[in-house]
Amino acid sequence: MNPVVVGRFRPAAPGGRPVNWAATGRLGGVSSGSFASLNLSLTVGDDSTAVAQNRKRAGQLLGVSEIAVLDAQHGAHVALATGPGIVEQADAVVTNIPGLGLLALAADCVPVVLADPEAGVIAAVHCGWRGLGLGVLPAAVQAMRAQGAEHIRAVSGPAICVECYPVGADCVDVLSSQLHTEVFTACAFNRSGQWHLDVRAGVHAQLLGEGIAISSVRRCTATDPQLFSYRAEGRTGRQGMIVAL
Ligand SMILES: [Zn+2]
Repeated sequence: MNPVVVGRFRPAAPGGRPVNWAATGRLGGVSSGSFASLNLSLTVGDDSTAVAQNRKRAGQLLGVSEIAVLDAQHGAHVALATGPGIVEQADAVVTNIPGLGLLALAADCVPVVLADPEAGVIAAVHCGWRGLGLGVLPAAVQAMRAQGAEHIRAVSGPAICVECYPVGADCVDVLSSQLHTEVFTACAFNRSGQWHLDVRAGVHAQLLGEGIAISSVRRCTATDPQLFSYRAEGRTGRQGMIVAL
């Protein structure tokens, strides 16, 4: 399978300009060791020069040289990006600026890109179980609508699958208190006394609740050797999803 998946939101932006997204994996970068080779994170111990080169390559997938990168916090704060650089203290970033790439990083959590091409509004989101419970996706959607988005579509990227993600009862207790019943039952499964989480399914249920159609790059980070997995590897890199108007 191709290590990088590039897709396009439909319809195009006014004037026929395409709104593209890409999901990256391990391959195609310049980092070495645990971070080989397309690590996009500056906060995991990798060489910053290599990460800068890797981010440049991620931008090139969409033809952009300026990128706003989420510095994920496992919260639900949404930032508005007005230029390139690190988007601090946020797990979702929204923009209406053409040519500015938005990059969400993950290595088991669910990266999501969203767009209303006709309104010219896009977003990138990092969502793990905490973000799911706190509602980072609905918060991002609300921020996009505040910028004029009406017909939003979404794509979720590679993430850990339900079989590979056993969790403690404490995590499930938190989620059951935070999530609507239909979202909770879509993502939490008790198998012979052991809870498992399907965060992607929870993300999809939340977005469907917002009336948003979502497709998926349905690959498991924990078992696919072409993807980084924090759970499977510990010290490792981060892949990402990038979107640009
Ligand atoms: Zn799996």
